[in-house]
Amino acid sequence: MYGRRHYRGYRGNGRQTGAVLQAVLWAITAVCIVVVCVAMAIHTKASQVVAAEPMVLPVSVTVREREIVDLARETVSEMERAGESAAIRMQAEKERAIVIDAGHGGMDGGCVFDDVKEKDINRRIAWEVVKKLRDRGYRAELARKGDDYVEKIDRVAYANRTNALLYVSIHQNSCEVGSVSGIETWYGENGVTEESRQLAQFVQQETVSATGAVSRELVSDDELCVINKSHMPSCLIETGFLSNKDERGKLCTEEYREKIAEGIVRGIERYLKVFP
Ligand SMILES: [Zn+2]
Repeated sequence: MYGRRHYRGYRGNGRQTGAVLQAVLWAITAVCIVVVCVAMAIHTKASQVVAAEPMVLPVSVTVREREIVDLARETVSEMERAGESAAIRMQAEKERAIVIDAGHGGMDGGCVFDDVKEKDINRRIAWEVVKKLRDRGYRAELARKGDDYVEKIDRVAYANRTNALLYVSIHQNSCEVGSVSGIETWYGENGVTEESRQLAQFVQQETVSATGAVSRELVSDDELCVINKSHMPSCLIETGFLSNKDERGKLCTEEYREKIAEGIVRGIERYLKVFP
């Protein structure tokens, strides 16, 4: 038994030695693995540090980007606010009336040639202007209704009282020389003289362009009541000469009056684009 035990012991010692060697090998392997892992960890950490460095820069870039985004947002909101105030202003403008004054009326016929009365031509053109302005979305009112007689000062007072946006008076001209024809527009010294001059100029240019009539002059006058007592940009247009037979004939046609009205409205619209 012993011999066997010895033998066994011997064999047993050999197995123990192998186990020890195996354990040592495992230990060495484990140490190697640990060393490799540590090395990899250190390398990874180093890589992370290296990789992290560029991350530092984008932080400030991000701040700048955020500032840019904030600035863009502020700009957009400013633009929105500007757009809103422009829309409100435009809406407010549309709520203010453009007063169209048909010169003379009632017992005051204005100039009369060959039974053609100025007050009637004025009234027809004025009504056409009002309709066209309303079609374009503007609020437009007549300073006198029908064939009523209204004092000049009362017409202007109405425009001032209602805080009118613009005031345009329509008249016909006359001259001892029958051949004289064409359109002229007047503006006054009313506290907004430059605006009135500009309105008169646009109305004159557009009406001449629409009709092909002779362009006479742009006249400043400090005595005409309707353009001097008004508080808003105002002008007075003489759309033709009733004393001129040919022009009188044209003024008696709806087609020509429509052209005049179209020109006046274009002049008003042009003015409103320059002085919104
Ligand atoms: Zn007149």
